[in-house]
Amino acid sequence: MKGLIGFDIGGTNLRCGLISEEGKIIAFYTQPTGAQRGVEKLIQEIISQVKRIEKEHSEIPIAGIGIGIAGILKPIQGIVCFSPNLPGWRQIPLLKMLRQSIPYPIFIENDANLIALGEAWQGAGRGEKNFFLLTLGTGIGGGIIYQGHLWSGETSAAEIGHIKIDPYGERCLCGRRGCLETFASASWLVRRAYKHMHLGMPSILAKYPKITAKDVFTAAQRGDILACYLFQLAGWALGIGIATLCNTLGFKTVIIGGGMSNAWEEFIGSLKGTLTKELLAIDYSEVKIIKSSLGDMAGIYGACYLVKQNLD
Ligand SMILES: [Zn+2]
Repeated sequence: MKGLIGFDIGGTNLRCGLISEEGKIIAFYTQPTGAQRGVEKLIQEIISQVKRIEKEHSEIPIAGIGIGIAGILKPIQGIVCFSPNLPGWRQIPLLKMLRQSIPYPIFIENDANLIALGEAWQGAGRGEKNFFLLTLGTGIGGGIIYQGHLWSGETSAAEIGHIKIDPYGERCLCGRRGCLETFASASWLVRRAYKHMHLGMPSILAKYPKITAKDVFTAAQRGDILACYLFQLAGWALGIGIATLCNTLGFKTVIIGGGMSNAWEEFIGSLKGTLTKELLAIDYSEVKIIKSSLGDMAGIYGACYLVKQNLD
């Protein structure tokens, strides 16, 4: 049995796991990323984790290492072009730097892409040849699985969060207007709540000193009109985004994950309602909308599966 090492490097946490080729978790570690300490320190941290696994599981030969990072990457060249959550990460030749200390094959990929790949291997996408996945978190990430493999495109593929919903809408962090992310991400749910309350819309959220997406969810569960409206709006935008992808790719399976997916019941009705109107050739009854099943482990599974698929 060989082992696969997977990393999921986010702005907050660095997660790392050793998984067998059959998909069994052998070891799992998590620690703060410490991104503010700079690029060199984080690279050293990756190397130390690999050495730790080698030492603690010396009986398992390592087949390779997969690394997921949020941001724009050039996976084949092994370059991290830009990562919004990792300060200083601009045009970093990660593979080249790691290869000086790590003797195994190494692969890098966008973190949301790897979540999709992880779900394809061991999660909600098992047995599905073609699907796309959306992760609803602080922002919205996405991944496209085509014929069981990740669709990486020629540059950065599956920027689903930046599908345009409203050309005159709010300005997104990417600099463009009215992206899906400005309607259905956790950060925008909060921003919109503040904006509407500022304009005079009553809400029980007005009592909170500082609102989080979870507070908006709780308020919606209690029937708060503003909170319910914001989730309906998120569902509407997701319906348009998903229909656009289904109409373009001809896919019939959609997986939704990320922290916001816990508020499933608050947005799914509106999402489905919009989807029925916006689909062209595909019948609504043929579309499967599934909740992701691997949670925080999806990225590590995906990183390991990336290695497995590349080495097989
Ligand atoms: Zn955008």
